[in-house]
Amino acid sequence: MKAPKKLYEGKYRYTRQWELPDREWLVDQYHTQDQSADQIAAVVGCRQNHVLRWLGRLSISTKSKAAQGERHARLMSGPGNPAWVDGYYAELGSGGRSRVCQRALRRSGVLEVCCWCGVSVEDERLEAHHKDHNPKNSVLANLQWLCVTCHRFESYLWRLWKQDKLDLQCEGRTMVINFK
Ligand SMILES: [Zn+2]
Repeated sequence: MKAPKKLYEGKYRYTRQWELPDREWLVDQYHTQDQSADQIAAVVGCRQNHVLRWLGRLSISTKSKAAQGERHARLMSGPGNPAWVDGYYAELGSGGRSRVCQRALRRSGVLEVCCWCGVSVEDERLEAHHKDHNPKNSVLANLQWLCVTCHRFESYLWRLWKQDKLDLQCEGRTMVINFK
């Protein structure tokens, strides 16, 4: 059981050709592991249309609309829901996860200043930063205010650190950055 291989890739997206996957593999992914066609496509690196076509050609039964609705309701209850912050559903309102996190932080009464440079909300836009870089871990202990500039800088440092391109040492509020 293995994921299908890309056979050919031309200059444009639609000139990609894929081998037909093992029927067993696709049934396992789609029905046993309960992945959506979109999720399978993301893992394989193809488009959702390919997966739907494979399902048809291998005559695998697709999920009914009712089953899809049931699956969505199950996945969207609890921590899988973008509006799930700190153990409860955040108030409904516009915006995605970032807005929801901002509202949760504001409601918690944390002083609205950037945790890095100390700029206040009157002078700069503040964003909710996930300390562990996991956007799904939206508990208040994992959130802090960062201004736009510091947030971008933090993400930049984090990316370079993950790529093992720099060393970071923190001494109190002083950060020593050594580029490798
Ligand atoms: Zn800042």
